[in-house]
Amino acid sequence: MEQVYFICHTCGESFPMGKESLCPKCGSILTVAYEREYLREAGRALKGEGKESMWDYQRVLPPVKRENIVTFQEGCTKIKKSRVLGEELGLDGLFFKDETTNPTGSFKDRSVSVCVSMAKEFGCPGIVVSSSGNGGASTGAYGTKGEIDTIIFVPETTPVGKVAQAIAYGGKVIKVRGNFSCSYRAAVQMAQQKGYMNVTTTFLSPFGLEGYKIIGYEIFDQMGEVPDYIVIPVGAGPVLYGIYKSFAELMDMGYTEKLPRLVCVQAKGCAPISEAWQENRKVIGCKNPRSVASAISDPLLGYEQDGDITVEAIRKTCGYGLTAEDSEILEAGRALAQKEGIFVEPSSAATMAAVRQMKEQGILKPGDTCVCLLTGHGLKDSSAYIPEGLEIPVINTIEELS
Ligand SMILES: *Cc1c(COP(=O)(O)O)cnc(C)c1O
Ligand SMILES: [Zn+2]
Repeated sequence: MEQVYFICHTCGESFPMGKESLCPKCGSILTVAYEREYLREAGRALKGEGKESMWDYQRVLPPVKRENIVTFQEGCTKIKKSRVLGEELGLDGLFFKDETTNPTGSFKDRSVSVCVSMAKEFGCPGIVVSSSGNGGASTGAYGTKGEIDTIIFVPETTPVGKVAQAIAYGGKVIKVRGNFSCSYRAAVQMAQQKGYMNVTTTFLSPFGLEGYKIIGYEIFDQMGEVPDYIVIPVGAGPVLYGIYKSFAELMDMGYTEKLPRLVCVQAKGCAPISEAWQENRKVIGCKNPRSVASAISDPLLGYEQDGDITVEAIRKTCGYGLTAEDSEILEAGRALAQKEGIFVEPSSAATMAAVRQMKEQGILKPGDTCVCLLTGHGLKDSSAYIPEGLEIPVINTIEELS
């Protein structure tokens, strides 16, 4: 067996890495596994300052030839210590990992950069994604940069504004009749029948998890320790699982004996994972998702088992599953913009709403270190912050302003 290979999350069987994304034996999800000695060697080689992008951690990513790496220097985003909000809440150790500074404005770039690079490594004729949001924008950008056929499936009802960024980057956007499940299915079929790599940012994408994993490596390096908590806005949870995987690997390498507690935050109007954690049961899909936090409103209908994997990772770290009302989310987003100067989309603001709750409930103590993962830029969805019924005054002359 190679030193880096796929392992099935459910049946535990190993397979050589390839462009398929589900276990050939049982159909469950695959993750990338590394031989312990290989990983230890890789860990030693990671030492040193001056990292500029996620690819400076290439030793702990799936092997890929240099010429196949498709990158815009994503990752190595800053960790910013809170200047105001932490002090207001009486927290000394509140930090923000600012993923809004990634090339297309969200952390999805990490997943897509690794996936597109691997698609080139395996000689895939193209890549395909089902996303009208941040995943679609990233795919448009990296597919074009990688000079590989790039198809972005979106539901028929998607407003053109939502895919404007993907189109600007040169992605080929195609509408699929029906709801999100229909465009999701189209991407799966395209991958199966045409040999395209499905880079949809779900658990279907073992390489995407590897990209997310580097967030954890960066946090560990930048802070010089494992924080007590990392608060993560969760849709299906690949990002949370990827971060869990990084700290599990760091433990395996012998760099730490501590896991950070991973806190999953979802919007009240669509919280299948947090509710499953709270009620100590399996995930039940959400029939009627309603929230301003669109990037984390994943109903998980028909693929509930993805959510179960995320719940399992939360439990393994002794973490929490929390929910926030839209009003709390918007309030937190405005506070981040006005007091910290970090403008994030509502999904990311949910982390700050969660921090407030954790402080009020006594989960977070003044001396704890806590990192909020700010996943996406506020300009992605700036209209979300316009107050309801806002009337912007119109004047002829400034004398009318009393
Ligand atoms: C995709 C996304 C998330 C959720 O990530 P998952 O890995 O799907 O759980 C959170 N925030 C933003 C801005 C996103 O685009
Ligand atoms: Zn299996």
